[in-house]
Amino acid sequence: MSLLDTGYDKFDAIEKHHNDGAESCSVTLTVTDSEDDVENFDGETGKEHGHAEMDALYQFLNGIGWDVEQFKTYSLTLTCQDKACCKHCSAILGHLGVTAGEKTYKSNRTMGKTSYSIHPSFRSFLAKYLKCKEEKIRVELLGWTT
Ligand SMILES: [Zn+2]
Repeated sequence: MSLLDTGYDKFDAIEKHHNDGAESCSVTLTVTDSEDDVENFDGETGKEHGHAEMDALYQFLNGIGWDVEQFKTYSLTLTCQDKACCKHCSAILGHLGVTAGEKTYKSNRTMGKTSYSIHPSFRSFLAKYLKCKEEKIRVELLGWTT
């Protein structure tokens, strides 16, 4: 199985092809640290960080300097109620061990030819976290053909 399939399976959301029909999507990432302090990050689509889920993760990860060891000390929950998380977002959330919040679903339907991208810092973070080459992230997880 590819990284896309294994990550999608790992994400603990219920599979439901739910979509409110709107272009935009907003999500909340809830981050709890080892001392039970909670911080929320709101993510939106169209902020040059890819989908809303990735925008929220970008803000959090950028805040901790993309530090893999530090990342492991937090527990994360993502709540996205406008529409189901797409297959790519779900796979990344699954690999990172993010828990699905209330009324948060996942969908493996492809969205046509829309390209999926995440910030370069995020790509190298994933490669470090999953202990693989960035090329594998690009091809297997993000579905780039070149
Ligand atoms: Zn997505």
